[in-house]
Amino acid sequence: MTQPYRIQMHETGGPDVLKVEDFIPRKPGPGEVTVRQSAAGLNFIDTYHRTGLYPVRFPFTPGQEGAGAVQEVGEGVTHLKPGDRVCYLASGTYASHFTGPAERMIPLPEGITPQDAAAVLLKGLTAWALLFEVRPLQAGETILVWAPVGGVGTLLVPWAASLGARVIAVTSTEAKAEKARALGASDVIIGYEGVAEKVKALTDGRGVDVAYDSVGRISAEESLNSLRTAGWFVTYGNASGPVAPIPPGRLAQGGSLVMTRPTLFSFIQDTDSLARGASLLFSALKSGTIKADIGQRFPLSEAAKAHEAIESGTTTGATVLVP
Ligand code: NDP
Repeated sequence: MTQPYRIQMHETGGPDVLKVEDFIPRKPGPGEVTVRQSAAGLNFIDTYHRTGLYPVRFPFTPGQEGAGAVQEVGEGVTHLKPGDRVCYLASGTYASHFTGPAERMIPLPEGITPQDAAAVLLKGLTAWALLFEVRPLQAGETILVWAPVGGVGTLLVPWAASLGARVIAVTSTEAKAEKARALGASDVIIGYEGVAEKVKALTDGRGVDVAYDSVGRISAEESLNSLRTAGWFVTYGNASGPVAPIPPGRLAQGGSLVMTRPTLFSFIQDTDSLARGASLLFSALKSGTIKADIGQRFPLSEAAKAHEAIESGTTTGATVLVP
């Protein structure tokens, strides 16, 4: 499509509420730039905005990350010029053009394409926050990772392994298990039943130091039961639905457990933190520690199909929408 367009929602619901609409991109105001987007990343959070699990105001354009080339700069912007390649986390990126604050735009390093950036920025910064900010992971520790070959998992597993952790992964199929092993998981549990028992068997009864759990409703109890005394339950997602309330007494019963429900945005509120995370992320990409694994690409105009795919649990790696 050559006309500027975006995906708009006027109500919550299934993928069919994602409508393709023409629009006139907003001119950049002071301190802003307009980007001609080459790619927008698809994230599970986009489906939560669509279904209403995370409430939004209508009309709403989904999308939390994008990448492309600067088309126009607003007054007072000195560090970016038309043609510069950038990526960013911002709301409303399911569009051919995006206008937003220049100070939140991250210049793309040489050798990293806009599609790669859209594939790794949000998910990779999430992996960074989990491994370095929420609780710095130590070499020699053992961790449990759910959905190891999903968008975040594909980056979390090799990064954790490169830090010297032993990674026990849980996934649904043998094909995904093979991929998890290739990413650096030393043990893989297939199927969601009896996970804690299997983890205890793999760790001589001790349990893991940290459980990184993005699956949520169906996995929380298994994660808690997989921990060592004073282990950490890092519940960071709801792919199977939100986690049922957990009373403090449950943490005592498990042996002084620690529970946290981190969100990436807490760790990148100021531009320095964002730059620090992005710098570590791009270094890890350049060194080959992690890879931009684009498992699926969809035209942006087919965002509804992309939502169906990620919700079916059949995608691997990242999904990128191309305007
Ligand atoms: P994924 O690519 O990991 O997809 C979800 C995976 O979860 C599936 O592939 C599947 O993996 C597993 N799964 C288990 N049960 C279900 C189910 N009922 N429906 C769908 N999937 C299921 O997604 P993302 O990496 O993009 O995101 C994972 C989660 O992390 C989401 O809830 C997301 O919102 C959250 N997240 C949180 C962030 C934060 O800041 N806290 C930031 C980024 C993401 P398998 O077959 O291997 O079990």
